[in-house]
Amino acid sequence: MTSISGKTDIDWRAFAAALAPVQVIDEPVLVKKRSRDFFWYSPILNADLKRCFGDLVARPKNADEMRHVLAVAYAFDAPVVLRGGGTGNYGQAVPMEGGLIIETTAMNKVLEIGEGYVRAQAGALMADINAALIARGYEMAMFPSTQDIATIGGFVAGGSAGIGSIANGALRDPGNLMSIKVQSVEEIPTEHVFEGAETLHIHHAWGLNGVITEITLRTVPTQDWVGCLATFETYENAYAAGLALAQAEDVRCKLLTTVDARICAYFPRLKGYIRPDKHLLVSLVPKDDIAGFETCIRAAGGHCDLTLSEADRIAAKLPHVFDFSYNHTTLQVLKADRSATYQQIGCPIPPDPTAIARLRPKLGDDVWMHHEFARVGGQIVTFDLPIIWFSTAQRLAQINATYEANGFAVYDAHTWQVEGGGLKNADYRHLAWKKRMDPKGLLNSAKSAVWKTVKHLPADEIEALAAEAQS
Ligand SMILES: Cc1cc2nc3c(=O)[nH]c(=O)nc-3n(C[C@H](O)[C@H](O)[C@H](O)COP(=O)(O)OP(=O)(O)OC[C@H]3O[C@@H](n4cnc5c(N)ncnc54)[C@H](O)[C@@H]3O)c2cc1C
Repeated sequence: MTSISGKTDIDWRAFAAALAPVQVIDEPVLVKKRSRDFFWYSPILNADLKRCFGDLVARPKNADEMRHVLAVAYAFDAPVVLRGGGTGNYGQAVPMEGGLIIETTAMNKVLEIGEGYVRAQAGALMADINAALIARGYEMAMFPSTQDIATIGGFVAGGSAGIGSIANGALRDPGNLMSIKVQSVEEIPTEHVFEGAETLHIHHAWGLNGVITEITLRTVPTQDWVGCLATFETYENAYAAGLALAQAEDVRCKLLTTVDARICAYFPRLKGYIRPDKHLLVSLVPKDDIAGFETCIRAAGGHCDLTLSEADRIAAKLPHVFDFSYNHTTLQVLKADRSATYQQIGCPIPPDPTAIARLRPKLGDDVWMHHEFARVGGQIVTFDLPIIWFSTAQRLAQINATYEANGFAVYDAHTWQVEGGGLKNADYRHLAWKKRMDPKGLLNSAKSAVWKTVKHLPADEIEALAAEAQS
């Protein structure tokens, strides 16, 4: 079998034979399909990554099969990339060096539901976890809008927050990640369990420092959620209403999103349900808190256009309101026009509607705001995920500079290295655990710019750099 990636010198036929009885996929079209994620949101990443392919896909169906796959990869010195649903936005699951793709979607069991927690295999879909929980009176504390195709392992390894984060914080906040079971890539792979704060050694490391097989997460009591859409004459007022709702003690929203009116024009499914040419606030509100929600909207000068129970939504064949939040907002625009892209912006804390109003005219007509409200470390924060009408990399850099000059942080969505985006700096704890769990550096190593500068050091020395970086 020749190398599909053109980057490896491995006998892939012998490799596939050694994997038996684990299911493999070697059809080049299917391997290439599984080498992609949602990097195409970024024209810059698209140019860099669209021709990066793996060589073979393995689909282990339990922890024993995973251990076998990792031992074979170690024996063949094969680069390895883990893949869940492949919905990451930065090419996290793209095999830059070719090699083996391990797809986890056959490890998809919800293993245990207890009071306030759920334990599941890494490849379980979050929609399946939520469905199992809701039947028992619970739900995930947060989940991404991709829950129908994204896995819990991919969310914990590649994601950060989602629907529920305005109530329950980010994944990294204490108590949300309870335990993570991880396998190493060694001659005989070993299993490590990270609990409590130790889970941060693995969380958001893009699968470069161990292979997650099982996760235990905090759950919260489920509610009778009502999808709410409200509209405003000005974006500032929509944002101010979002902030007031985030602060309100009697309205316990699990989603607060504000969307510029120009973006709403790309929501054909909402035509006739929301007032045209107005700025939108999207929310999920417990049924008992709807009156308080409406009072808040009116006080901010807004209009409640739609309140929809889950049963009514299904009857009306309408999408979930969260299909207009987080990176689904971007997707609605991309469905109509692939020249759109986006950016990830951290807004000044505490949130200030006047700062948003001051910034808007400085950004230009090619930047349309969209904010998510969340609670991180106990504080209310907002992130702007603007639609940007892409022209050139220089113009994108100029937009970034405008945000930064006005006190907004840019967490670049157009980089495929873990240190370039959400993390901003090197996470030496991640890299120390990479040295321990992946001594040959086979796991997704190209995704860390810093790994090559520390890989020769013992793990403890790499870890010491974390303390140095903090001091
Ligand atoms: C429309 C859209 C909306 C989104 N909304 C959100 C959102 O609200 N919040 C958010 O945080 N993200 C969001 N994302 C990003 C992404 O969907 C989530 O992070 C998602 O949870 C990733 O899950 P996945 O199974 O698709 O992971 P994948 O894309 O398959 O993998 C993500 C990363 O995790 C690694 N990985 C996967 N499984 C394992 C494993 N078992 N062990 C070790 N590493 C592993 C991969 O190698 C990769 O680096 C969104 C993306 C899109 C396209």
